[in-house]
Amino acid sequence: MKKYFIKAKKIYTFDHQKSIYDTLLIENNKISDLGNNLIPKDTDIPIIDLSDYIILPGFIDSHVHLTSTAINEILIDLSNFTSIKEIVKALEALRDSLPEGDWIVAKEFDPVNLEEKRNITQEELDKNFPKHPVLIIRKDSHSSIINSLGMKLLDVEIFPENGLIKERDHQIAIGKVYQNIDPSLLVKGLIKTLKKAAEKGITTIHALEGGYTSPPNSPQLLLGLSQYFPIDVIIYYQTTSIKKVKELGLRRIGGCLLVDGSISTLTAAVSEPYLPNQGYGVLFWDMETLSNFIRTAHKEDLQIAFHAVGDRGIDLLVRAYQKVLKEIPKEDHRHRIEHFELPNKEHIKLASQLNLTLSLQPSFLYFWGGEGKLYEQLLGKERAKRIIPLRSILKEEITAGGGSDSSVTPMDPFLGIYSAINHPNEEERITLEEAIKMFTYNGAYIGFIEKEKGSIERNKDADLVILEKNPFEFREKEEILNIKIVATISRGRFVYKDTNLVTNL
Ligand SMILES: [Zn+2]
Ligand SMILES: [Zn+2]
Repeated sequence: MKKYFIKAKKIYTFDHQKSIYDTLLIENNKISDLGNNLIPKDTDIPIIDLSDYIILPGFIDSHVHLTSTAINEILIDLSNFTSIKEIVKALEALRDSLPEGDWIVAKEFDPVNLEEKRNITQEELDKNFPKHPVLIIRKDSHSSIINSLGMKLLDVEIFPENGLIKERDHQIAIGKVYQNIDPSLLVKGLIKTLKKAAEKGITTIHALEGGYTSPPNSPQLLLGLSQYFPIDVIIYYQTTSIKKVKELGLRRIGGCLLVDGSISTLTAAVSEPYLPNQGYGVLFWDMETLSNFIRTAHKEDLQIAFHAVGDRGIDLLVRAYQKVLKEIPKEDHRHRIEHFELPNKEHIKLASQLNLTLSLQPSFLYFWGGEGKLYEQLLGKERAKRIIPLRSILKEEITAGGGSDSSVTPMDPFLGIYSAINHPNEEERITLEEAIKMFTYNGAYIGFIEKEKGSIERNKDADLVILEKNPFEFREKEEILNIKIVATISRGRFVYKDTNLVTNL
């Protein structure tokens, strides 16, 4: 349909006036008109009746590792197996359909579910799979088991114990294996992943690609495929090569370019030690190299994004940005910090003064925040309270988008929204409207696409999410977690619909 009306119960536009309407006119993938009771009596323009439902702007997930999420989607899932014997049998069937030397990669291995209550051993893998490299990723996603041929083919310095590799070694191994994934399989995984995103109301993804966790040339692959994708994907190229970025005509560099590590692996750089090991984490850059790189990219007019998690990591990054922006001021650079989990007050002030933007992952708080959970165990009660201080950040008027860091947490904006309004530290909670804005308008702004996306306004893309119930009328916050998405419209096309709820489309 080139031109059609949508009639809804309420359309929350998220424009600057926070207008609420009940009718939209969509024309050539754009919103051409909107208001109340717009439909003329004798019109022959088709009308889609969604008058039982609520409409919001399509969601934007501003931090997704798209190709690695897609690969994860196509790996063999071991979570339903109950014994090692069964697992071996299934993998043998797969082995017989694969040419020698092809990788067998499986995920969600969990000894707790198995009769044997133990890891599969390297010996077992070697005996059954002498001519196929095998990598079994454990449920914790921080460790895996590899066979001898796999080790040989990886050809990297890692040190397994009876095939078990952990943390950094595990990251290196899966990075290497992902680089050898069959491209046609990857494309399948991508389409599946993007469809799943559409089911969650997402119409745009910021894909952070390149570097050791993506297949080679994944930015090129995504650019080439973009017209086949159901939703929009904008690319952040995780490289320090400005040449590569420019060659592709991209204007964004970075993503999870690591200034420091992560809290769960005790590698985020912190100023007070971690409780379990008394360590201070790792910095991967020094001031000079970091500011030199930022200066060069800034001069080339690129938007820059860096991963910084711990207060020491954030400190280094904010000061490097400050140094460069002092030398070469620029109005609208929108340089980004990804995660920004443990900033202190001064960092927040400085980020605001420098007009930096943020991509935050509130759903980290859902999994690891709160009493007795991982953040408290690793950082202690006081510091854990300060993780992702949403209210303090919004108070300083910093534009912060929401993101999942998929596949670290699932692409599910309502999970992020719920986590944001339910911050374990009550003082840092934000309102539902602010949380939705993180995953709509702010996500557009920090990606330089706010002229086309992020709110429902005339001449913007018709990117919409249709909800069964009105989240602003929920009595219990928990209802947000179970909200039903009726349909998702991307550039005027239905890319998802719940066929139980929408029968007349
Ligand atoms: Zn990151
Ligand atoms: Zn990331």
